[in-house]
Amino acid sequence: MSQSATVIATFSRRMRLRLAHDELVDAKIKGKRLTPVCGDRVTAEPIANESDWLITGIEERRNALTRPNLRGKVEVLAANIDCLVVVASLAPAPDWFIVDRYLCAAESMRVPALVVFNKVDLLEDDSQTEEALSVYAAIDYQTILCSALERKGIDELRAALHGNTAIIVGQSGVGKSSLINCLIPDAQQKTASISDKSREGKHTTVNSRMLDLPDGGYVIDSPGVRDYAPALQSVAEVERGFREIHDRGHDCRFHNCRHLQEPGCAVQDAVDARSISARRYESYKRTLRLTEDLNKSP
Ligand code: GDP
Ligand code: ZN
Repeated sequence: MSQSATVIATFSRRMRLRLAHDELVDAKIKGKRLTPVCGDRVTAEPIANESDWLITGIEERRNALTRPNLRGKVEVLAANIDCLVVVASLAPAPDWFIVDRYLCAAESMRVPALVVFNKVDLLEDDSQTEEALSVYAAIDYQTILCSALERKGIDELRAALHGNTAIIVGQSGVGKSSLINCLIPDAQQKTASISDKSREGKHTTVNSRMLDLPDGGYVIDSPGVRDYAPALQSVAEVERGFREIHDRGHDCRFHNCRHLQEPGCAVQDAVDARSISARRYESYKRTLRLTEDLNKSP
């Protein structure tokens, strides 16, 4: 009998599923064309005489976090998310362009996003960080200063995630795992490991996993990245990814203004008047260029 389940961990083509009543099972996938990701709702059925289940289909995704893979095709990293948490820190130095591209992804998924600045215990002078974060606060993103080391800001983060399925993203080394460890005791994290009976490959690290938050909700732990860009299809999508640019864009002379060199561009005026951050505008232009290059290539 097939039933509906949620993918809570992926390791190559092996998956861990949460069935009804929170029962956890390992599963394989029927056919090469199906590529479930963490967060997917799937249909699965038991396999006779095996402990593994078989995933036979993926239900329609409410949303998906994507990126272009090396061949320029869309790769889905996770699905059905309520909230995106972008983490930056002092070391590695914050790359606000990456933060912007994650926020852009959240906008195109139509989910709320928040910016966490971790490792504040290392800050000697916080004026620069505060300035960078105030750019986000000014455009209505929640920002949280955290220290996983000193357990600062953790309650605020917990409150923001409560009852949601959130994904935590950001460059490697910013402290995503450390923050998750503050939110979820170690022992509870074991549920999302995959038993690798076949030992194929022996890589025991899961690609991504969904962990239960003790007070309700889930957090998806995605592997660290050196860089990130969402897989977007059009200028309009990029524009919508930068909310203040999208808002101001309504006042441009041309309805299809790309906010680059066009006359009567309200966005460029706002950048000149400093009501739109020059750095965010630069980020928009870079993302636009990336997206155009991506969609140009065959
Ligand atoms: P991830 O790659 O984003 O998951 O980062 P990790 O959680 O593995 O952390 C990377 C390194 O930063 C580790 O050596 C952590 O001990 C350290 N780290 C994490 N959070 C903090 C923090 O709040 N303050 C300081 N000083 N170090 C931290
Ligand atoms: Zn414009």
